[in-house]
Amino acid sequence: MEINTGVKIKMIYALNINPIVKRSYVKHGTSKISFSQQINKDLFVKEKDEISENPQIVEGKKDLIKQSKYLSDKNLTAGSGGNISMRVGDKFLISKAGSLFSDLTEKDISVLDSNGKLLDGEKPSSETPMHLAVYKNRPDVNSVIHFHPVYATVYAVANKTMLPNILPHTTKHFYDLKVAPYENAGSDELAQKTASQLGQSEALLLGNHGALVVGKTPQIAAKTADSLENYAKISYLLENSCFKYKQLNKDNVDYMVNSAKSNK
Ligand SMILES: [Zn+2]
Repeated sequence: MEINTGVKIKMIYALNINPIVKRSYVKHGTSKISFSQQINKDLFVKEKDEISENPQIVEGKKDLIKQSKYLSDKNLTAGSGGNISMRVGDKFLISKAGSLFSDLTEKDISVLDSNGKLLDGEKPSSETPMHLAVYKNRPDVNSVIHFHPVYATVYAVANKTMLPNILPHTTKHFYDLKVAPYENAGSDELAQKTASQLGQSEALLLGNHGALVVGKTPQIAAKTADSLENYAKISYLLENSCFKYKQLNKDNVDYMVNSAKSNK
């Protein structure tokens, strides 16, 4: 079997600069097939080590763990529902399938490329396509959180958004909030429609499912998650109480919306 050019280049590279592969050369001798296979395996291990030791990825994992704990402490999560992710350069960190926000560890965070190929860690969340579709559509976004908070999910199941223009900060952050129609969890349809329905917004309700928020950092996305649920709770109480409430007038609304747009 002839060794192709790509493998030859890898062999030259490996022998010159990679001590692991040099050792493997000594161990495996000059057999063309076993040597080239071993080189590919060793390079894969080296690549994985480089990813897991990359300082930005190490810091990113710490940040995701911190924000996951924040979301859990705020009672914004239930069971293993939901997932959290972050963009680090051209790579993506995402919680693994079945992981818990309350208990997330470094080992629960998978590293992927932009096509969803697993570079390090275990099987990622089944909602990975939804996260990647959002990142593709939103270069300004570096963190995505999908979760099932009680009050926002009540609205998502009712397929309606919260009362508009009841508070200045909710108007500023959620003036363009929508409910995306239901799509099967984990499907490509859910991924594509979530990205397009989210548009330039900070949050989206997912019909009969839950919610999704985005931010420049995991901390900002986590705060938006908290604000969204707080908004849903206040709106729900107003809609289901005998209180008469007043909404902001058009000038007040315009002021907050313009302020939101100028910050983008
Ligand atoms: Zn979900």
